[in-house]
Amino acid sequence: MNSVLAFPILTFDVTKLNPSFGYVFDARWLDPYESVVSILWKFVWMNGLAGHEVVERIASHTVDPYDGIEATPEDINRQYLAHVLRIRRQTVREAIPVQSSLRPFNSELRFCSWCMSRGYHSVLHQFGLMLTCPIHARPLESRCRHCGQTSSYRIDAQLLDAPFRCPHCRVPYSASWTWFAKRGALGQRERMALIRAYIG
Ligand SMILES: [Zn+2]
Ligand SMILES: [Zn+2]
Repeated sequence: MNSVLAFPILTFDVTKLNPSFGYVFDARWLDPYESVVSILWKFVWMNGLAGHEVVERIASHTVDPYDGIEATPEDINRQYLAHVLRIRRQTVREAIPVQSSLRPFNSELRFCSWCMSRGYHSVLHQFGLMLTCPIHARPLESRCRHCGQTSSYRIDAQLLDAPFRCPHCRVPYSASWTWFAKRGALGQRERMALIRAYIG
């Protein structure tokens, strides 16, 4: 089936979501080890959703959506996210890995502008010891090139309302990210580079 997946209302947990229409999401929009932020940016943008609503729904507990939640298995209901987006649980687990002392996460959003141009932010970019993009070997950035500010790697309304953009000045991190639904799959070399980096 080549058309974009549509979700009938009855598949939702209506007590939490209660949508008036179905949402769209397609697992083919994702690349390996895509971060939960990147996944949610696509979900928000393709469905015209408000960031604060999405934060409230995916949180595993009651939250102030403007304060937000950590991108951790403790704060995000991973099972629910996989269900609503109809993506594999493994995809969600890889997007929201467990942090450890051996693999600390960077608290600032870090990105590769070349990856951003295909609408991709990797969870690997958040690994504290990762200094360059595994695919492009370019130094990871954390400052917006327009306003110079950094952003927290934290899921809040402000961040989700600015897909692939700086949440402060709203200038995109890279120009062509909106083509993510039409771009080709990553090549074998790129996939292997991601797997090697993930395994460490
Ligand atoms: Zn890259
Ligand atoms: Zn900015």
